[in-house]
Amino acid sequence: MSKIALITGILGQDGSYLAELLLNKGYKVHGVVKKESFTDKKKFWRIKKIVKDLVLHNHNLDNLESFYSILEKVNPSEVYHLAGQSYDGHSFNNEFYTFKNNIDTTHYILSSINKFNNKIKFFFAGSSVMYGNATSSPQNEETIFNPVSAYGISKFTAYLLVKSYRSQFNFLGSTGILFNHESPRRDLYFVTRKISNGVARIKKGLQKKISLGNVNSSRDWGHAKDFVNAMWLMLQQNKPDDYVIGTGKKHSVLDFANKAFAHVGLNYKDFIDLDKNLIRSEKSDNRVADCTKAKKVLNWKPKFSFDELVSDMVESDLELVTNNS
Ligand code: NDP
Repeated sequence: MSKIALITGILGQDGSYLAELLLNKGYKVHGVVKKESFTDKKKFWRIKKIVKDLVLHNHNLDNLESFYSILEKVNPSEVYHLAGQSYDGHSFNNEFYTFKNNIDTTHYILSSINKFNNKIKFFFAGSSVMYGNATSSPQNEETIFNPVSAYGISKFTAYLLVKSYRSQFNFLGSTGILFNHESPRRDLYFVTRKISNGVARIKKGLQKKISLGNVNSSRDWGHAKDFVNAMWLMLQQNKPDDYVIGTGKKHSVLDFANKAFAHVGLNYKDFIDLDKNLIRSEKSDNRVADCTKAKKVLNWKPKFSFDELVSDMVESDLELVTNNS
């Protein structure tokens, strides 16, 4: 009999890749979709090809009873909780929404699963932003968390909730402390996608420049496909645990832009405008993953190199721009 998985945030970048991965592995896949998004078919662009194979549930994750009722209907063996306000840069503009959406929803889900059947395996999408301006580098599962943004604080609180359910109730919850991961399915307000899409539009003559903030800022960027594989591997272990997932390599925004423009035969220097208004105050350059544990226990390592990530994104945006113009 096939395994049953329930994914929150299935319309998002990671949710869509995870759904594909699980379908390929023979799972029956259910997804939770926000009420506002359920009727907005534009929101389904990432799962367009697989939507007929999914069972979708219309739910805002804003109360205990109704998530419990989804569990009764679906009876999953694995729950992947990816829904959330996922943009760190927006989080203090939208702090009450960020806290409510990232903490309360996780709490409702934990409590419902615990009551319904605490043998269900649970994955929570934590974040490297929980480290804040890290004082030691690279970061692993033992590094002290010191979140400074509303997003970081919300993820850290939810991570602590998962940990406490694990110790109080033998709950089978694992957290992935996920470093940045990108793909052609990233939203356009993230800098990597802003660049790949801008490069494609410039190449096709639809745009002249890309405005960027601190181009020397650097990140540990991986491909989302590698990260959803790590999520799945975490739930295949006998014991729940927390794992740092990242590539262990940092690249600057300028490196990304340089590679993206070079991919289409252009020089980034001719197309970038520096805009001081886009510079963010939070310092995060010190964040880079030490994935020794994931490599050893999960036998996980990223398959995509940085160059492959950049070319995948630019190629996909070239195709998108060509088809839409
Ligand atoms: P996305 O923003 O692409 O996807 C998040 C999804 O969650 C969206 O589809 C959104 O739906 C949905 N959602 C938000 N609130 C609710 C709600 N109340 N009820 C139901 N659905 C909701 O993020 P990613 O796929 O990139 O990330 C997945 C998870 O991993 C997130 O929790 C993110 O914080 C975390 N993470 C991601 C990292 C990254 O680099 N990508 C790094 C570290 C952590 P809608 O579209 O309808 O608004």
